[in-house]
Amino acid sequence: MYWQKELETMEDARIRRLQLKRLRETVRAASRSTFYRERFQQLGLSPEDICTLDSLRKLPFTTKNDLRQAYPFGFLAVPKGRVVRMHASTGTTGRSTVVFYTRADLDQWTDLVARCMVMTGARQGDVFQNMTGYGLFTGGLGFHYAAERLGIFTIPIGSGNTRRQIHMMREFETTVIHCIPSFALYMVHSLHAMGIDPRRDLPLRIAFLGAEPHSEHVRRKVEELYGVDAFNSYGLSEMYGPGVAFECPAKDGMHLWEDAYLPEIVDPGTGEPVEDGAKGELVLTSLGREAMPLLRYRTGDLTAFCTGECGCGRRHRRIRRIIGRADDMFIIKGVNIFPTQVEEALLGMEEVGNNYQIILKRKDYTDIMTVTVEVQERFFRGDPQEREQLRRRMAKRLREELLVTPDIELLKPGALESTGGKAVRVVDKRDIYEGGISDT
Ligand SMILES: [Zn+2]
Repeated sequence: MYWQKELETMEDARIRRLQLKRLRETVRAASRSTFYRERFQQLGLSPEDICTLDSLRKLPFTTKNDLRQAYPFGFLAVPKGRVVRMHASTGTTGRSTVVFYTRADLDQWTDLVARCMVMTGARQGDVFQNMTGYGLFTGGLGFHYAAERLGIFTIPIGSGNTRRQIHMMREFETTVIHCIPSFALYMVHSLHAMGIDPRRDLPLRIAFLGAEPHSEHVRRKVEELYGVDAFNSYGLSEMYGPGVAFECPAKDGMHLWEDAYLPEIVDPGTGEPVEDGAKGELVLTSLGREAMPLLRYRTGDLTAFCTGECGCGRRHRRIRRIIGRADDMFIIKGVNIFPTQVEEALLGMEEVGNNYQIILKRKDYTDIMTVTVEVQERFFRGDPQEREQLRRRMAKRLREELLVTPDIELLKPGALESTGGKAVRVVDKRDIYEGGISDT
């Protein structure tokens, strides 16, 4: 099933032609914003110099910091009177970043998300419970309008409030959910406490998992616990929101909609393109966007292009699930580590529960990494020896995966609370003085 069949199944050569046409329009549109007008002047370039897909590389990257510096209107490329909506990032550090949409932008965005939903098999007759945040965050409204455009019964419940989510699911017979993966795993405890087995008692069939990088194990866990098909969703507010890339039923990478985005994957250190299929940072240029075109935007997300064609008939290139954020990576004892590596190592163990957190501390010049992880209830009832053995096995697994040995703390199921927002996977307390002589 397709939503925009012609665009979705377009041959490669036609996609490139469409991209070039839209890139030239986008560069011209971007040059109407204060930020890009000044940038073109500084470089002595005119929009007409970007005349092939490759010539885009004449332009430097646009960064999150550029967006912050240009707050609030530096990137706006149309008169303010044409803007019909804005969204903003949560802005945990520094200024938040804002994004603007014209009526046509909202139309394009809605179609992109609708494509994703139809691709997974969601259709009229489904009941869609949208369990991510509404408001300035793009996840809620992005899916909301797409579902309505498809004529799907939509429950705009938003994030959090686990018991209310469950009551709604039961009473309105929800078949499709959209949530953050850590919340799906957390909610299982409440379901079981209420005597509900989601596989048996709920008619759920599809889950869209987005907004935080997660491993294949987490997907499988959600699928097993809920009896659903779970699909990986990728997007970022700087590029409208969700709907940038999405898994098809082949579940082998996410199709990135190349009529709306021009992707590059670069070495995060040098900014040079990596070889096809190699890991690097995803860089995106918006195509067709009016209010706020972005050229070569560094997403900070690490991924790789999938090679080969997908069996589903869509020709848009696929990217691998996000390995991590370039800025989520942390360094312990000189080793680069991504939270998803810890997840991959731990959640493959059947004794392990649904949630974990990594805590970094520094004591006497030494970095200490502690992994707190929920395990099955039975380890807190039986022989303490068994718990100790489990801890040792985990430490061994993590050492093999990460090449460093963390401390491990075992927790009861549900101990790491989830609010429905993005899970905090890494708590870095290394700038807090703790004994010894602080070197910061
Ligand atoms: Zn496919």
